[in-house]
Amino acid sequence: MTRFGPAGNSQSFYDAGHKSSVEVPRWLYSIGLSAYEYQCNKGVNISKEKARQIGDEAKKYDILVSIHAPYYINFGSQEEEKLQKSKEYIYECVEVAKEMRAERIVFHPGSCAKVDRKIAFETAKKAILEVVNVVREMKVEGIFLCPETMGKKNNLGSVDEIIEICKIDEFLLPTIDFGHINAFTGGGLKTKEDFVNLLKKFIEQLGYERMRRFHSHFSRIEYTSQGEKKHWNYEDKQYEPDFEPLAEALVELKLEPVIICESKDYMSEDALVLKKIYYEILEKRM
Ligand SMILES: [Zn+2]
Repeated sequence: MTRFGPAGNSQSFYDAGHKSSVEVPRWLYSIGLSAYEYQCNKGVNISKEKARQIGDEAKKYDILVSIHAPYYINFGSQEEEKLQKSKEYIYECVEVAKEMRAERIVFHPGSCAKVDRKIAFETAKKAILEVVNVVREMKVEGIFLCPETMGKKNNLGSVDEIIEICKIDEFLLPTIDFGHINAFTGGGLKTKEDFVNLLKKFIEQLGYERMRRFHSHFSRIEYTSQGEKKHWNYEDKQYEPDFEPLAEALVELKLEPVIICESKDYMSEDALVLKKIYYEILEKRM
């Protein structure tokens, strides 16, 4: 089953009178969504108790939970202290994921703004291998670490880099951010063929079984020559990419990812729009 859900809590959740993330799984279920990306992007500041409550609710309402790790993670850093801190952020997320029954931890590989891209990438691969080994020792089952394809030219996380990182270990599953890839490539994702070719590349390199339920982010993203500039809502049709050709590619390749919508304001509403487009295309094919 392809799952759809929001990144974080949209305004409509609060407008409906809700206050705590503990109420999110039930609310998502009630509006027809089945995934939720909990945001630890500004730091891992949730109590074990609250994480457990979210996890219990998510299980009750069959919501697949992922956690977005802090933005401060930088495995490309040449400073030992920053590398160590980056690793610790992931371990903290794993502890939260255990309580929250989260299956996926999404993280940005790091920056190459201050250092040669190749050097930063080699540092990142070494650090991520170490993280994988430590996480394995933490005896967590069913949790994947999901490095994300990035939208800015001075960030690590091109398609090729994410594939190479995922080859380090089975523990790693790609987060394919389609808006980011489109921004990074200056508008490379337009037609169904563009999406099919992109996804086939992942399948060829990482295998169909592993890719079948890959993790993903989707939103329209404005970009410049340097890549990603700003996230927009689905109704802002002047920005790319469109979801229809992606949905067609997913149906054609029989892929059933988790699709997290990262629209600017309407993450939940837009996740429902994407779900509707997807099922219309799926039903036409059946
Ligand atoms: Zn991200």
